[in-house]
Amino acid sequence: MRIDLHTHSRVSDGTDSPAELVAAAAATGLDVVALTDHDTAAGWPEALAAGTQHGITVVPGMEISTEYGGHSVHLLAYLLDPTLPGLVAELGHVLAGRSARVPTMVARLREAGIEITLDDVYEQSADAAATGRPHVADALVALGVVGHRDEAFDAYLAWGRPAFVDRYNAPLERIIPLVTEAGGVSVIAHPWGRSRRHEPTERQLAELVEIGLGGIEVDHQDHGPAERSALRAIAKNLDLVTTGSSDYHGTGKTGHPLGVNTTDPAELHRLLERAATASAAAGRRTPEVVLPC
Ligand code: AMP
Ligand code: ZN
Ligand code: FE
Ligand code: FE
Repeated sequence: MRIDLHTHSRVSDGTDSPAELVAAAAATGLDVVALTDHDTAAGWPEALAAGTQHGITVVPGMEISTEYGGHSVHLLAYLLDPTLPGLVAELGHVLAGRSARVPTMVARLREAGIEITLDDVYEQSADAAATGRPHVADALVALGVVGHRDEAFDAYLAWGRPAFVDRYNAPLERIIPLVTEAGGVSVIAHPWGRSRRHEPTERQLAELVEIGLGGIEVDHQDHGPAERSALRAIAKNLDLVTTGSSDYHGTGKTGHPLGVNTTDPAELHRLLERAATASAAAGRRTPEVVLPC
């Protein structure tokens, strides 16, 4: 069984529609794929319908933008009821913060001499729940200013670059209990990815387990072999589920093809058990997943 538990569609900052993404996952030989758009469940119905059509199991999830100790942490939440009011409020706050900074980013780019308008950006985010930096990057590509999203980030949008504008992230310690309350399971995405080497520490992860953290994503393109084995050892100590994924964004992110990393079927079973326990305790209607075997 081949399982990829972290992907993005056009409902956030991927380039495939949810149905296209699920079809591509089936075509590449995956048996299970999770749709985990940033801060939204809006793509779930389309992805689930496409899963039935293409004979692939779709796990509904989302990747929530949080902060912990002053740093950004991406939290994958699976099989939760996305209508829990406290969660809806937090996601709304994050999505609003994402969109609110777009005019400032456009103004900064114009100050840098680039003739870009707000409409150029909104054209790129028409299917998305919110407009983010990747859509500004896509507008810069469409205008011929840069050749690819990566270049737009490197030159203008990354932290410390001229058009970078910060935004709201939800407190991780508030979100983990809300995910449990919504009957879902929390898994920290690429915990040691990007510039954050070896943080959160094992001690911090142990504290997060106390408030309900269920797993960590170990096999991700942002982790080298040393990080992966260290994270696996920590997961064993803390009884955390370990996952693997592509973090696929269609053509929006290079080096992240579907299935490039996968999740061990035994780990998916543990994740589903934790989801069932959380769902029973929450007494809420949560998505159900039937595995191919
Ligand atoms: P935002 O949430 O609007 O600040 O945008 C952040 C998102 O942009 C991340 O979740 C990534 O999906 C994407 N991203 C960040 N850095 C890059 C990069 N260098 N190239 C392409 N996409 C990126
Ligand atoms: Zn993304
Ligand atoms: Fe992420
Ligand atoms: Fe992601």
